[in-house]
Amino acid sequence: MAEPELVDVVVVGLGVGGEEVAGRLAEAGLSVVGIERDLVGGECPYWGCIPSKMMIRAANALAEARRVDGLAGTAQVQPDWAPVAKRIREEATDSWDDRVAVERFTGKGGRFVRGSGRLDGPGRVRVGDQVFQARYGVVLGTGTRPSVPPIDGLADTPYWTNHQAIEVEQLPESMLVLGGGAIGLELAQVFARFGVRVTVVEALDRVLAVEEPEASEVAAAALRADGVDIHTGVRAERVEHDGSRFTLHGVGAAEFTADRLLVVTGRRAYLDELGLDTVGVNSTKRYLPVDDRLHVTDGIWAVGDLTGEGAFTHIAMYQAGIVVADVLAHARQANAGPDASGTASVVGGAMGASNSLAASGSSGSAGSVPRADYRALPRVTFTDPEVGAVGLTERQARERGINVQVGFTKLGSSTRGWIHQVGDEGFIKLIADADEGVLVGATSVGPAGGEVLSALVVAVHAAVPLSQLRHMIYAYPTFHRAIEDALRNLS
Ligand SMILES: Cc1cc2nc3c(=O)[nH]c(=O)nc-3n(C[C@H](O)[C@H](O)[C@H](O)COP(=O)(O)OP(=O)(O)OC[C@H]3O[C@@H](n4cnc5c(N)ncnc54)[C@H](O)[C@@H]3O)c2cc1C
Repeated sequence: MAEPELVDVVVVGLGVGGEEVAGRLAEAGLSVVGIERDLVGGECPYWGCIPSKMMIRAANALAEARRVDGLAGTAQVQPDWAPVAKRIREEATDSWDDRVAVERFTGKGGRFVRGSGRLDGPGRVRVGDQVFQARYGVVLGTGTRPSVPPIDGLADTPYWTNHQAIEVEQLPESMLVLGGGAIGLELAQVFARFGVRVTVVEALDRVLAVEEPEASEVAAAALRADGVDIHTGVRAERVEHDGSRFTLHGVGAAEFTADRLLVVTGRRAYLDELGLDTVGVNSTKRYLPVDDRLHVTDGIWAVGDLTGEGAFTHIAMYQAGIVVADVLAHARQANAGPDASGTASVVGGAMGASNSLAASGSSGSAGSVPRADYRALPRVTFTDPEVGAVGLTERQARERGINVQVGFTKLGSSTRGWIHQVGDEGFIKLIADADEGVLVGATSVGPAGGEVLSALVVAVHAAVPLSQLRHMIYAYPTFHRAIEDALRNLS
């Protein structure tokens, strides 16, 4: 067995969260080993947020051009996927090459190891033949992968996940999208706007089931207007592929066929691969439980999708900030402890970390490290119209026994919505705690629903009193001015 190599911190998985933690700790002067088995940067830049939003930007340009008729003359639109695929290949992903990202990390002083990392006892990580012993801790940022349901026949077919959908160069004529959540709807709308005949099949009784029912209705109507065939309440039972086409059989008589099948039925962390049993942590759960400073257990932190606190890049980045502060605080405490001279000499002798930590300006006190607070977690589904939401839905608030008031207004009845005319579908829905006089949740659907959301995020995060929200000035005629109408309708 290889002799363990002593380092300060080992980060397993350099996706959004892991790369941020590893890079910042390396910049702070710690000796950091970052392990990534696929591409540094993770899902978001290569198969997630960035390329999918490039696709959406292009699809929305087509949709806007199609709105010219009757508003500004006439326009003929000829969709072409080639520039979209080219932009994703060349600008977003460097043809799925992470050289720049690896150099970004090593440029900060980190040491990069390509491979699959696995815990091998407290503070120890094994990757291939190498073993690293972490002085201060191990950070797990291994993310999630698609959760593919155990549908009869599915595993034997060449179905797509988000990877193939993002990498596609030639669009198929038809596509089945299994799963009507945020990712499914975003991709379904994009492909439909580029001329693909898209069918969405969702087991629950509505699409975007985690959001307000009104949001599901608007999103479904918008996709149907783009030609997407949506079937809800259909549980897939069996999938066949005859060499060229897929057939999906639903429970009952439902049957759907298409050239491609995209499976977007959620994601899950694959905890059983991480060696968690070697540190006494249960690995049979869907996600890895953490406390509000992202501790898994002594000397182990987790960050990002893996924690199950929300599969968003902004959650991974937010958590990364807390982990960095906490690891630095632990490192400084270790160096300043009763046997500080001994520890410091190991650290200083090996890596010079104690000096650079002092220079890094970290607080050094675990007490001053912020605790994660997800009350005002924002989420945006980038369909057109966008569905932005923060905090609790009406149902969640009622289930918590909150004395709920709801304020609702349609965007089309605001001045800006009326001016906007075609494509102005949307609404503002506010969920207030009547006893506390604050908003606990809100949904903003519309052409700029995700942007309008920011004001509502501040309101929920800072618990701004309703009286203050009612007496602030909303610019005329903006979409966000509809918030004032929804406040007036709270009852
Ligand atoms: C199509 C799509 C669109 C999305 N759009 C948005 C969006 O608009 N906005 C948003 O906020 N979020 C979006 N997301 C979600 C976002 O991509 C994730 O929340 C984010 O990537 C999570 O970062 P992470 O660091 O937790 O994990 P990941 O980015 O998944 O990174 C984890 C990394 O760990 C590596 N790894 C796993 N196991 C090991 C191991 N044992 N050893 C070494 N390496 C390992 C993996 O290879 C991977 O690179 C989207 C996701 C998808 C799929």
